[in-house]
Amino acid sequence: MTDILARAEAGERLSPEETATLISLEDGPACRALYEAAYRVKLRHVGNAVYLRGLIEYSNICAKNYLYCGIRRGNGRIRRFELTIDEILAAAQLASEYGYGSVVLQGGERGDARAVGLIERAVGRIKAAFPALGITLSCGEQSLAVYERWRRAGADRYLLRIESFSRALFERIHPADSVFDERLKALKDLRTAGFQVGTGVMIGLPGQTPPDLAADIAFFRDIDADMIGMGPWLPQHDAPLHDDTPETPDKAARRFRLALNMIAVTRLVLRDVNIASTTALQTLRPADGRELGLLAGANVIMPNVGEVEHRGDYQLYDGKPDLDENARSIRIALERSVAGIGEHIAYNVPGTPRHYLERISRRSGE
Ligand code: SAM
Repeated sequence: MTDILARAEAGERLSPEETATLISLEDGPACRALYEAAYRVKLRHVGNAVYLRGLIEYSNICAKNYLYCGIRRGNGRIRRFELTIDEILAAAQLASEYGYGSVVLQGGERGDARAVGLIERAVGRIKAAFPALGITLSCGEQSLAVYERWRRAGADRYLLRIESFSRALFERIHPADSVFDERLKALKDLRTAGFQVGTGVMIGLPGQTPPDLAADIAFFRDIDADMIGMGPWLPQHDAPLHDDTPETPDKAARRFRLALNMIAVTRLVLRDVNIASTTALQTLRPADGRELGLLAGANVIMPNVGEVEHRGDYQLYDGKPDLDENARSIRIALERSVAGIGEHIAYNVPGTPRHYLERISRRSGE
């Protein structure tokens, strides 16, 4: 293991088996060595600044019925909502006032003209009011034409997870409404439209193996992703996807460790990308989950800047934290906890991935 880790830290390409070995580490000292190596690589390539993206969950209306998701179309037990453009703008204003540098608009996946137009107008209004604010969209699979409209309106980045690069697993968790090859095409289209592209997976899905996760990381590398957002899969009481065995603290701890290992190995392999320490990670360990993610190689956090009113209706999974915390108290707690691990928040900068900047400068030098 020590030899594999040393070669990974030096930037050597590992075999799929070696990558899976690192992902599967369970022993405390071995995991610590993995996180420390990933942290050194993070310091070398992206430094110890944490970039913040103010998260605006603008709507839980969704046309899709993915098996894992709490806001899936078939869940009749939640109140559906959609923020108005003024409400979205108010949240963006808060992010700007807090110095967050960028926002993420995230919501259920819809391709109808009204929903597409709403995002387009919201992006345009945010860009006009706060030109320095980076804008990321996380609005699911769309056509190239829609991606181009949103890009023209002023959005800079797009997050679309592959969820799992195992075709069989992807098909199992998206039995209707989504086709593996179309998800791959959408990721290509995002690049064609000129976005900084982010992808990611859920970690610890029923039936997922370490070789599957190793293939996920190779996929991130092969599509030249700029940003990675991934977190543990968490059961949702109204969603059909469940494990065969009941949830236990031990199982949650194993899933948490697997998610940290994935962050660390992704940092070792991808080097200069942005990696999010996600809310799902924080859900499994509310006291220090996100901070441990940063120490394992992540460099981005997405604090919620939306109104508390709708948080309860945006429960993608059970146990989501900060349901009644307002944006201000989330910000104060975050500032403290980031300083507590010896890192600092980079305020008022868009936090563009180093990987993207390098690619653009290579291209302009050609
Ligand atoms: N509709 C957009 C999409 O599908 O990309 C954005 C919203 S979607 C709810 C955002 C992400 O939430 C998904 O990519 C998925 O990975 C994650 N998610 C949904 N249900 C989850 C669960 N039960 N556990 C962990 N993550 C989940």
